[in-house]
Amino acid sequence: MPELPEVETTRRGIEPWIVGRKITGWSVRQPRLRWPVELPARLSGERIVRVLRRAKYLLLETASSALIVHLGMSGSLRLMPLDSAAGRHDHVDIEFDHERVLRLTDPRRFGSIHYHEGDWRSHWLIKDLGVEPLGPGFDGEFLRRAAKDRRVAIKHLLMDARVVVGVGNIYANESLFLAGIRPRLAAGRISELRCTALAAAVRDVLERAIQVGGTTLRDFVGGGGAPGRFRPSLNVYGRADQPCYQCGTPLKGLRIGQRATVYCPKCQR
Ligand SMILES: [Zn+2]
Repeated sequence: MPELPEVETTRRGIEPWIVGRKITGWSVRQPRLRWPVELPARLSGERIVRVLRRAKYLLLETASSALIVHLGMSGSLRLMPLDSAAGRHDHVDIEFDHERVLRLTDPRRFGSIHYHEGDWRSHWLIKDLGVEPLGPGFDGEFLRRAAKDRRVAIKHLLMDARVVVGVGNIYANESLFLAGIRPRLAAGRISELRCTALAAAVRDVLERAIQVGGTTLRDFVGGGGAPGRFRPSLNVYGRADQPCYQCGTPLKGLRIGQRATVYCPKCQR
């Protein structure tokens, strides 16, 4: 599934190609994605001003509106020449004035595209989202406040999009390892010092994943077409029962809220 790093990689991949370009048309071959795709006629002629990311949403901003794109479980966005033949999973094309199309391919159809007039921050999918893990609001003090008096497992809190967005399962596992914190520890019992280490670990893991273009990669292809290469640098995710790289102790696997969780019983307290 495309996670925050893959979405950010896609954003960086498509941004230089479409900023300043005018939308000349579109084709919706399959409108039944996660939500029905409805694009209004006035979209034609609008120019892309910025390409932003909020959580795992891509925002294609124009002067007065935005296209809000989510890649769902298996979606990808790529720039292609205008005359490229469409395959059966190529559901939506946005056409630009330089003879290119931005193509949404999504075999499982959990992705979505919404047109939003005005400021995208007020859109119902976006307005209640938590802080950005790479933004200025995410640090130890923030985490400590969010965790105060909470008995929920710290890993669960990290993955709660109302608190902080875009920390998927892989990244939550890896961050907790780097910070030396047990995934099941009650969030409210973690000191501010350790919360600071954890916030730094989350940033570090996400930034490294973005640098190499993301992790997951059965279906995902970055905006530039290259698959991500983060997987070889994973410390714990997918390594239950294998020796910890730091101390050699066999890693433990368990489930927290249905999600695969792996940690080192010696390095994580
Ligand atoms: Zn260890």
